[in-house]
Amino acid sequence: MRKKKKSKLKTAIISVYCINCGLKIQVDSTKEEGVCYNCKEAFITGKIVEHTKWNATPGLTAALIISCIAAGFIIMSFFMLILPLASISFSIIGLFLCAISLPLAIVNRRSHITMAPTTIILSSILTCASIAILIVSIVNI
Ligand SMILES: [Zn+2]
Repeated sequence: MRKKKKSKLKTAIISVYCINCGLKIQVDSTKEEGVCYNCKEAFITGKIVEHTKWNATPGLTAALIISCIAAGFIIMSFFMLILPLASISFSIIGLFLCAISLPLAIVNRRSHITMAPTTIILSSILTCASIAILIVSIVNI
């Protein structure tokens, strides 16, 4: 009996979101087509990957909204620098919101090609700004 040589097929499993049911599913990116295990809808792998890239997850949308609210608080804290206590409280709220939005954006960094890096950069800048304002207002007391 001759032994058959088994050639190992390379697979590349990636996580995407189903276009039909929206569920996070695993697909083999080396295959052209696949079927969603949840809704049984057939899909073209390239299409579903593009769809996932361009459709922000709720987590990323939340991160962007939270960082915008944080921006509002940090801008207010900047204009309140003459009132150190008010400035401190506003910048602490801003910093707290950044502490939520930044990890949330990092976790969801693969869900959107432009929105994820934008949110991460925005949250990082806001974190630095709120720390700077916090230090300045503490010094001002
Ligand atoms: Zn599905």
